Amino acid sequence: MTRVFNFSAGPAALPEEVLRQAAAEMLDWHGSGMSVMEMSHRGKEFIAIHAEAEKLARELLAIPSNYKVLFLQGGAIGQNAFVPMNLLRGRTSADYVNTGEWSKKSIKEARKYAAVNVAASSEADGFTSVPKQADWKLDPNAAYVHICSNETIGGVEYHWTPDTGDVPLVSDMSSNIMSRPIDVSRYGLIYAGAQKNMGPSGLTLVIVRDDLIGQALPITPSAFDLKQQADNDSMLNTPPTFAIYIAGLTFNWIKRQGGLAAMERHNRDKAAVLYDYLETTSFYVCPVARDDRSLMNVPFKLRDDALTDSFLKGAEARGMVQLKGHRSVGGVRASIYNAMPIEGVKALVAYMKEFEKNQG
Ligand SMILES: *Cc1c(COP(=O)(O)O)cnc(C)c1O
Repeated sequence: MTRVFNFSAGPAALPEEVLRQAAAEMLDWHGSGMSVMEMSHRGKEFIAIHAEAEKLARELLAIPSNYKVLFLQGGAIGQNAFVPMNLLRGRTSADYVNTGEWSKKSIKEARKYAAVNVAASSEADGFTSVPKQADWKLDPNAAYVHICSNETIGGVEYHWTPDTGDVPLVSDMSSNIMSRPIDVSRYGLIYAGAQKNMGPSGLTLVIVRDDLIGQALPITPSAFDLKQQADNDSMLNTPPTFAIYIAGLTFNWIKRQGGLAAMERHNRDKAAVLYDYLETTSFYVCPVARDDRSLMNVPFKLRDDALTDSFLKGAEARGMVQLKGHRSVGGVRASIYNAMPIEGVKALVAYMKEFEKNQG
């Protein structure tokens, strides 16, 4: 068996230990005689799996007790609609900060339900930075302020937490959740699809402060009404059981590595290998402002774009796959989530040097 270095932006690489454990438990979970996939979500076995996943998420992220942790479906794109449906709370508008493709999608969807005020945007610089908070035009009457903490396509990440006063801060953390410690108490609601840093697609983690729950718009589907789901421990409908199980195994793996502080060190070390090299060459170009570069998704272009295809083919031949940039921006993108070992990043940089030497 050969495992590649998988640089996919998502669904993304999972820790090999997690996959091995899932394989070992596939036919018979802990003597139950069943696969987790075959269990009733209301049986004692799955209830324990679910409770363990929530407990680990709470522990890793140090989630305060006045926050609910929900395991839902519908993805982050679903949350783009369910956030305004749940959080408008009698207000009519919400503030959004636009830092790229995922922010734009959130804004477009929210406009179906709310008056959206784009409080700040980095569109003018081609979405290569995070607008400084001093330049944001926040509305004190907004229902919430929405950000995307890591733009998976553009490779732009917040390395600071905005201060929105009494207006709840909402963040799409799909591509950097669990990559480093965060102060959950600074947020009203956090959402993230699981398939970047937590597990398989099909699971959406929602962390929401208690006082924001219970005022959903009447049109809100029951399965996405935070109050109905919170009152039913995320089991108003059948939850994505297998994805929750794998996320629990992944959380356990993160804990064994030393938790989120250790993840942050590991992620900073990995990103430095790539960004430090990019600083030394003009053969490859990373467009993102230095202070706002993502530790998770590193986009770059070859100065001569005509060489991109041959670069990608060579990488694939060396066991480094899914490096093609998003179709909207082209070039190359290396996604280096928690599960990517530093050896993978070192192998990529070694190949980049070799390619530059041969073509430059
Ligand atoms: C991947 C991603 C999404 C899309 O999530 P789905 O699960 O496909 O709905 C949304 N936002 C960000 C920041 C992402 O990285």
